[in-house]
Parts: sequence; structure tokens; C-alpha cells
Amino acid sequence: MEISYTPNPNPATPEARDAVLAAPGFGKHFTDHMFKATWTADAGWHDAGVIPYGPLQLDPASAVLHYAQEIFEGLKAYKHADGTIRAFRPEANGERLVRSARRLALPELPVEDFVAAVEALVKTDRAWVDDRPEASLYLRPFMFASEVFLGVRPAAEVTFMVIASPAAAYFKGGAKPVSIWLSSEYTRAAPGGTGAAKCGGNYAASLAAMTEAAEHGCEQVCFLDAAESKYIEELGGMNIFLVHRDGKLITPELNGSILEGVTRSSILTLGKELGLDVEERRVTIDEWRDGVADGTITEVFACGTAAVVTPVGQLSWDGGSVGDSSAPAGEITSRIRDTLVDIQFGRAADPYGWMRTLA
Ligand SMILES: *Cc1c(COP(=O)(O)O)cnc(C)c1O
Repeated sequence: MEISYTPNPNPATPEARDAVLAAPGFGKHFTDHMFKATWTADAGWHDAGVIPYGPLQLDPASAVLHYAQEIFEGLKAYKHADGTIRAFRPEANGERLVRSARRLALPELPVEDFVAAVEALVKTDRAWVDDRPEASLYLRPFMFASEVFLGVRPAAEVTFMVIASPAAAYFKGGAKPVSIWLSSEYTRAAPGGTGAAKCGGNYAASLAAMTEAAEHGCEQVCFLDAAESKYIEELGGMNIFLVHRDGKLITPELNGSILEGVTRSSILTLGKELGLDVEERRVTIDEWRDGVADGTITEVFACGTAAVVTPVGQLSWDGGSVGDSSAPAGEITSRIRDTLVDIQFGRAADPYGWMRTLA
């Protein structure tokens, strides 16, 4: 893929950039450039380039605005002590984007083009990758149906973009436990649906459940399987792990409706290295509830790129709760989190070759 380069004539001043980097929040501020490429059924991928960050002009009849033919990715780049900027497993995100594209009838972007796009943007905006402790640059690649057409069929024109947003330590002062609401009214994904694809539509469908969770004082939702409402699937944007008293690390097996997290897969690898018995299998909600109540489940945590590893304090449902929302992160949760972030920030060796130098 040939990538053109159009510099932003009005980039943020160093002072303005530093003000953002000092307090970036999450997903609120963006770098000076973005990557954009177009696909058409006739010409394939073309017009790839790094261009100034700014609003898109979209025709109101652009298909994505009506039928939600859209997928996305999320990954981070980190500044290492030697000055290099490295991304965590970008190929894994590129591979997942290909799988999501197949499910949403979007064109496949070759993994090497995905990585080249991320690399081109990070190289251009490398000044936005901060070296404050635990700071990173969150990268958001996405693809959508940009064809102007209201008929229902896969779009013949598609846009792929990458934008970048500085991110601070997700939790100041260590990972704070979250409270989880068990949704009994809503499901996130059903067999044969789009649960395993990273698509915006899955998130739209989870928002009413998030609102329900907030009404019950919870920060996140846990979804159960759609067929039997019996097995744990995941949270709206994070996978979930249970730690058993006897050293087992358990996560729901991939069943076609759970999103295959890159963090999840990395933790499965690290768990073995840390001497845990790793199990991917079906996990009932009763195993969680009863296990926390009787002490066989000693720790629960959620994981994903944005927050890395988040301890789960309490699980609530219509009629009860288990756990303690103020309990500190458990020992295994903290060890897994530290092992992973030390690799990401270059403070530990990278035995699996997960870090990819971009700039
Ligand atoms: C992105 C995502 C995750 C976490 O995946 P990572 O690759 O670890 O960031 C989990 N669940 C859903 C629904 C997601 O969209």
C-alpha cells in the first residue's frame, strides 16, 4: 500500500500539546493527523494517506449511518526508555479486523497494510506519545460503509481510518475495583450473531444495559449467554476471568458470541508462565456467585486494551449481591496486571515478541 503524506498546516503548539498530555482523559483529545484509505469494489484499496486530523464530510445517505456496517479496533503504543515507540501485538488486532470484516461483509484489509497504517500515523505524530509514567497513545482503527446508497447490501465503497488519542494511566493510584451488574433483561450477542466481531452495533445494543447498571450503582454489565441465560459471556467491552482458590485461572471459552480479546489471549499465556492452571470452558453464573460467597473464587477481574486489568469488587443482580466493592485488587490480579504492563512499557523482557517497534 502506497501511503501519501499531507502535513497538518496548523498542528497543536508544543504548549497546547503538553497541556493535553498532562491531563488527557480518555478518548477526548486527538493528535494532529489521521490515516485514511478508500476501498471500492472496482479499484480495491487506494488513496491511502496520512492527512490533517479533522471532520469528515459525509453524505446523509452514507450507508453506515443507516445500517451500521462498521467495525473497529483498539490498541496502544508506548514510549520505551530507549526512545522507541512500540505497539502491543498490532498484528493480532489486524487479524481480528479481518475476521470482523468477514462477518460484517466489509472488504478485508491485509494485516501488513493495517500495521503500515498504524505505523505511518504513529511516526507522524510521535510527539504525542508521552513518557509520563503509564502514559500511552490509544490507536483507534475503524472501517465503515461510506457508499451513498440506501439499498440494503454490502457497500461498494468503504473507508478505513486510524485516529490516535493520548491516554493517561487509566486508574490513578492503582486499579480501582469495579462493581458489575448482571443483566437479566438484555443480552449482548446470540449464536449466529455478531458478538465475536468488534462492531459498533454490539456497543449500541449494550447501552441500555449500561444505563440499567448505572441505575443500580454499578459501573459495568456482565452479559449471560442468550440461549439459556446461564453461562457468563463477558462485559460490554471487556473479557472476564475468575481465580480459583486452588490456583486455577478460568475464563469463558470462545463460543462465537464472545469477543476474542488480545488482552484475554495474552493473559492466558502469562497465566501459564505464572504457574496457574489455565482453563477455558463454560462458566455458569452460579459458579461465580456461589464461588465468591463460599470462598472458592478468590478473585475476579476484567481485561481489555483500555484498562488492561480491572479488579471486580462486587457482582449485583436483581435481588442480591456478592463480593465487596471496596476490596483491594487480589494478589493474582495484581501480578498478572504488573507482568503485562511491564512488558508493554518495556520494563520487562518480551519473551513472546509481542512488542512491535513503530518509530
Ligand atoms: C475490544 C473488546 C474486548 C477486549 O479486547 P482487547 O483486544 O483485549 O482490547 C472485549 N470485549 C469486547 C466486546 C470488545 O469489543
